[in-house]
Amino acid sequence: MKGIVLKKDKEQVLHHKHPWIFSGAIKVIDDNIPNGAIAPVMDHNKNILAWGYVNRLSDITVRILCFGEKPFTLDTLKQLIHKAIEKRLHNPLLANTNAYRLIHSEGDEIPGLIVDKYDAHLVFQSLTMGIDMLRNEIVQILADITHPESIFERSDHAGRFAEGIEKRSGQIFGVTPDEIIISENNLKFSVDVKNGQKTGFFLDQRENRKALIPYCAHKRMLNLFSYTGGFTIAAFKGGAYEVVSVDSSRQALDMLKKNLKLNHLNAGSIEVCTDAFEYVKHSTEKFDLLVIDPPAFAKSRKDIPSALRGYCDLHVHAFHLCRPGSLVFTFSCSRFISADDFQKILFISAEKSKRSIFILSKYHQPSDHPVNIFAPETEYLKGFLLYVE
Ligand code: SAH
Repeated sequence: MKGIVLKKDKEQVLHHKHPWIFSGAIKVIDDNIPNGAIAPVMDHNKNILAWGYVNRLSDITVRILCFGEKPFTLDTLKQLIHKAIEKRLHNPLLANTNAYRLIHSEGDEIPGLIVDKYDAHLVFQSLTMGIDMLRNEIVQILADITHPESIFERSDHAGRFAEGIEKRSGQIFGVTPDEIIISENNLKFSVDVKNGQKTGFFLDQRENRKALIPYCAHKRMLNLFSYTGGFTIAAFKGGAYEVVSVDSSRQALDMLKKNLKLNHLNAGSIEVCTDAFEYVKHSTEKFDLLVIDPPAFAKSRKDIPSALRGYCDLHVHAFHLCRPGSLVFTFSCSRFISADDFQKILFISAEKSKRSIFILSKYHQPSDHPVNIFAPETEYLKGFLLYVE
């Protein structure tokens, strides 16, 4: 049988239901299996342990789609998509929003597939060659189960290069409007799923934006890496009297202004289009509350040392802008930097800035971005609420 045979001492991974097989774990891979195709993964005795899709160009040679001897079929795919949707259906945490992640890749046992829901519209994102091959089937199943008004493709993630596939985006089904108004925590946001960053909005910060609200009354806040103002709008809702939002993207800040209007907020917002590192280095302003939500600095393992230095630099300078007794919500969405590493960075930054700092709370990704317990790597977002004395 055509397939992949694992080295004897590497079979354990599959017994523990981890969905990734690295090249070093493979004893033999049949030359006749094209990249992107689904194949059985076997133990040294040729017993089938799982089925997954192959890509020799990727560090992760096989991503598992189902465990056990039974082959992966269209029905298996349907079941997986159903299970993901089911997880969200009666989730009270999602009751207050019409925008959430419907399928979260390995977190929903479909490696490489992201589907986000914005009101009645879906955004489809494929991160791998294997998912590209299943694209039409996935789109058909999504249309049959969820009856969306439209499906737009945003398979333009930079990670596709490592998979040997081109970026692709465009309309797949129906007509997606240029602007979709979503509602989150009783706030409104305008989302451009066609041109915005990621799939249009950072849905993974929904709960953390909500967590910010009670801390904002009578505060002057600095929102670093503001994007379209998710935390800014939440801060005004919580009673902040002034918010300085810093982002290097002019389009994001234009959208932020739109979002202020949408929520009938018209005073106290200052938008600064610049590099956030430069801003914190040169600013002499003082704030009572800071939000620091940068993009992932470490996109791969080799970036870790420079990412750690970046986080440290950013925090040392940011702490200097804190009035005594202020609060800092700070986040890292780098998959390769653990919560412990992040806490160490905060410790070093506190020492360097000569401020006494206390952790008041910790945050993580929301329930529509589930962590697969068998794949701890699916936990990527971590946050801390700090008290800066
Ligand atoms: N907090 C936001 C999401 C932030 S995403 C929310 O709740 O929606 C990260 C943002 O950082 C993006 O808007 C991106 O444009 C911005 N960005 C990336 N590098 C930057 C830099 N060096 N300086 C300032 N902004 C940057």
